[in-house]
Amino acid sequence: MKLFVPEFCFSSVTEITPEFLQQNQIKALVLDVDNTLTTHGNPVPGKGVLAWLDQMRKADIPMMIVSNNSERRVKPFADLLGLDYVARGCKPLTIGMTRACKKFGLAPQQVAIVGDQLFTDILGGKWKGMRSILTEPLHLEDGPFFRFKRGLEKRLMKK
Ligand SMILES: [Mg+2]
Repeated sequence: MKLFVPEFCFSSVTEITPEFLQQNQIKALVLDVDNTLTTHGNPVPGKGVLAWLDQMRKADIPMMIVSNNSERRVKPFADLLGLDYVARGCKPLTIGMTRACKKFGLAPQQVAIVGDQLFTDILGGKWKGMRSILTEPLHLEDGPFFRFKRGLEKRLMKK
């Protein structure tokens, strides 16, 4: 079950600071899109996200988007943010994470995945041997499947 337990938790991606990353020897970030950088399907970045990206760039933290969503969804958003991306990343499979580490020229232990989902983002990052930062979802998806998954996540988080 340890594969589902994130190393760190933040209420929002914008709470992550360059100092925190430095203290924890994290040199680069792989970013999820939906419910991490903005709400699901939203073309506009979440509150404070653009300023946060600037702050990270100033601190020389390379970043890349890895999303399970479609090219059509992810490309315009990544372009707007000025970030390279992998769409249809199939997280928890590690294709996107592998590409990101290669691009950064860093070992997985130096790169953190940042995302809102234990079963895709955190699990995928941990499989790859990366560091992991869970953020609170910006907006909960609806539907019985998502409710079931969230319930399961909550129970795992308690442990
Ligand atoms: Mg997400």
